[in-house]
Amino acid sequence: MNPTPCDLPECAETGIVFDIQRAAMRDGPGIRTAVFLKGCPLRCAWCHNPESQRFEIQTGKGGKRYGQVMRADEVMQTVTRDRAYYESSGGGMTISGGEPTAQYAFCRALLVLAKKEAIHACLDTSGHLEPERFAALAPLVDLYLFDFKAADSDGYKCLTGISTKWIQTNLAFLEKTAAPVRLRCPLVPGVNDTPEYFTALRAQAKRLKGLQGIDLLPYHDIGNTKYADVGMPLPDLKTKTPDEEQKEHWLKELDGIGVEATMG
Ligand code: SF4
Repeated sequence: MNPTPCDLPECAETGIVFDIQRAAMRDGPGIRTAVFLKGCPLRCAWCHNPESQRFEIQTGKGGKRYGQVMRADEVMQTVTRDRAYYESSGGGMTISGGEPTAQYAFCRALLVLAKKEAIHACLDTSGHLEPERFAALAPLVDLYLFDFKAADSDGYKCLTGISTKWIQTNLAFLEKTAAPVRLRCPLVPGVNDTPEYFTALRAQAKRLKGLQGIDLLPYHDIGNTKYADVGMPLPDLKTKTPDEEQKEHWLKELDGIGVEATMG
């Protein structure tokens, strides 16, 4: 029987989950269960999960319901079902979003339960969280999947709508603690894939002593129809889906970086 997370400090018994994907292969090492929490304070111009952005449960125009209230122990019942796969593949649970830490207390509850179950936990985050809270989660996180979205703070403001103040502090925390991290890099042709971006990425990679890899995530437009479904305007993004040549060029930018670089 799992402990009740609401008994723990800063843990919430329930939260809003918008998806749980078992046998996920792209959300951290090995075979994983990815738990997607609803709500995000960012507004990335390329977001392909617009239905994850709002914090409340929504019903799309086509009748699809986005999000459901779940208890943390209920989520963990699903997560623990695939324990054998995690053990054989080096996998585990990944908490993603939205921005999972925006439901801080629920995110923490899930991480506490994963720790108690000895299940490897990845936190897939933009890093936009109060630094005190970010540091408080650290003992519960086995691997960070940390976004690197733009070359500098102006780029972040323009492309995601947020300040990088917390992100910079939280990256400095990961540098100082040499925490295990993979940098996740959404790349949008003609938007953020600038020479300055790759210079900044290389510099950031050098500072992260616990860096295990860099995952390049090429832009795609598969989520575009979902904007209309949830009544949101499609961002006016002047780009196109990258071809193989473009992707190879991006990978070449990371030649000699000293860690694994993958193309999503
Ligand atoms: S952080 Fe992720 S969920 Fe939030 S707006 Fe950006 S791409 Fe979408």
